[in-house]
Amino acid sequence: MRIVLVGPPGAGKGTQAAYLAKDLVIPHISTGDLFRANISQGTDLGKQAKALMDAGELVPDEVTIGMAQERMSQPDAEGGFLLDGFPRNVAQAKALDEWLSAEGRKLDAVLDLEVPEDEVVKRIAGRRICRNDSSHVFHVEYSKPENEGVCDICGGELYQRGDDTEETVRTRLEVYHTQTEPIIDHYKAQGLVSTISALGKVTEVTERAMAALQADKV
Ligand code: ADP
Ligand code: AMP
Repeated sequence: MRIVLVGPPGAGKGTQAAYLAKDLVIPHISTGDLFRANISQGTDLGKQAKALMDAGELVPDEVTIGMAQERMSQPDAEGGFLLDGFPRNVAQAKALDEWLSAEGRKLDAVLDLEVPEDEVVKRIAGRRICRNDSSHVFHVEYSKPENEGVCDICGGELYQRGDDTEETVRTRLEVYHTQTEPIIDHYKAQGLVSTISALGKVTEVTERAMAALQADKV
């Protein structure tokens, strides 16, 4: 399946993607994780992205679309993928449609995670991620690691993302409403959108997501 996860920053896209990707046996592709890996490796792409990410702004489409396409072209993504954080505006959504269509492929579903803004702010404020792999995600209250500050998955050091500050979160939410939310209508016009509540336990949200994806298949 080719799936897009959409929802405000902190909705739980990365958390859900880890479980869904495992269940569906498709790679989880997060453009945010790809940018963070580039930053920690000190690549030119990472250098281009860093200041914009720290400010909560979007990285330019020219850079982002090429990076996403390169990742989606890897052999492990041939049978499908779960996109998290991409597309993030209508131009990226159109570029993805065109790229898939040129490959003779299409999206199967767009899963829209709905969470009230006050909950999103709490989730972001307590988020901690792993230095080794930013897809290893924890929360100081809701998803505590066994040992404080240490990743349960790989033993790496947990830290707070530089863009998870109160000020940047405000910008990111505004960017989400003005630039990203319009992609939901873009995909509604294609009959692809399932909206689910992302409130409740992580496992409950995963069950809702799987049920919505099963319904899309029939
Ligand atoms: P996103 O990828 O949408 O930005 P994350 O998956 O990183 O969001 O989740 C944001 C924070 O919220 C993380 O600290 C994560 O542990 C926590 N979280 C995710 N899902 C839930 C949930 N259902 N209930 C409580 N906290 C959650
Ligand atoms: P995320 O990890 O999804 O919260 O993304 C973190 C940051 O990376 C965003 O605030 C943007 O600066 C940048 N980013 C991630 N994905 C995209 C995208 N598709 N388009 C532009 N910028 C992105």
